[in-house]
Amino acid sequence: MLGNEAFARGAYEGGVEVAAGYPGTPSTEILEFLSRYREVHSRWCPNEKVAFEVAAGAAIGGKRALATMKHVGLNVASDALMTLAYTGVNAGFVAIVADDPGMHSSQNEQDTRNYAFFAKVPCLEPANPAEAREFVRLAFTISEMFDTPVLVRSTTRVSHSRGVVEEGERESVPTRRYEKRAEKFVMIPAFARERRKVLEERLKALEQWVEETPLNRIELRDRKMGIITGGVLYEYLREVAPEVSVLKLGVSFPLPRRKIREFASEVAELLVLEELDPVWEREIKAMGIPVKGREVFPGIGEITPDVLIGCLFPEKKRDFADLSHLLIPRPPTLCAGCPHRGVFKVLHDLKAVVCGDIGCYTLSTLPPLAALDTRP
Ligand code: SF4
Repeated sequence: MLGNEAFARGAYEGGVEVAAGYPGTPSTEILEFLSRYREVHSRWCPNEKVAFEVAAGAAIGGKRALATMKHVGLNVASDALMTLAYTGVNAGFVAIVADDPGMHSSQNEQDTRNYAFFAKVPCLEPANPAEAREFVRLAFTISEMFDTPVLVRSTTRVSHSRGVVEEGERESVPTRRYEKRAEKFVMIPAFARERRKVLEERLKALEQWVEETPLNRIELRDRKMGIITGGVLYEYLREVAPEVSVLKLGVSFPLPRRKIREFASEVAELLVLEELDPVWEREIKAMGIPVKGREVFPGIGEITPDVLIGCLFPEKKRDFADLSHLLIPRPPTLCAGCPHRGVFKVLHDLKAVVCGDIGCYTLSTLPPLAALDTRP
């Protein structure tokens, strides 16, 4: 199953009734797959903030709800996220946000885990399609257990790789009763001050839970080196260095501090392998634990198995020939019959300054059209 299909399957099995999203690679197929389930009311929205708020409204009203978007979409929806973190949700609310390390189809390389730290909401990070299904399903339970929105971070390689996924039955989740409670759901300053305290109390409870959850697990092998990692990098690491000890983080935030200390005490050298920002590295260093991250692994671009081998075993010889120089470059281009081709051709010929938008319009940037000048 494709990772994004597995995300949809997990949401379906988790009893989601309302799903809203805004398309953007690598997240788009989640909602497309989910729309095939008749039990789920799925819809595209004009932007990510609307999608987030449609889903949040459904959750507050008592139905499990999902929002989907790519990483830059969470910037648009962040206003709603920050307030929903205060109000809590009633029924389960999950937002799946797909990052794009290497910027295969994005304008930047931002790391969604920063938003989890910023909003103080839990963030789960599956490593493969099977976990994508399992983690999303579980995310609804966590959301209701702690009355919080939950982020699920994907990356291009989790969303767009295929793996074996075992399907389960759809949970029958009764609608939660909606109660008019302005002190919980209307964030005027007097109420927000109280909810601010609730947010911190919830975080303490989450920090307890995160130490116990099997989503974070220690795999002790050779004690010479221990690596803390998560997401698809866990899969790569197991492939290229099966002998190293690993602390696999299935929860990106909050961090299991006790478990990290325990793991650090078991290994001679501690590394942290993460894509993209040194989010965990900063936290672990702030705990006073000596750890190497950026000194060993790159902070820019995708960390592929090849890159990982180069970082961990620079002396290791590649056992396959690099034929990439033989490939004919195929930059993305407007479809052959695209009606925008003519428009961009005229704009190009007029030497007009063209300020563009996201999506296909950017495909007019390169020659021969060379039309677009700016695109925020
Ligand atoms: S707008 Fe995009 S998808 Fe539609 S025809 Fe043009 S290039 Fe193709």
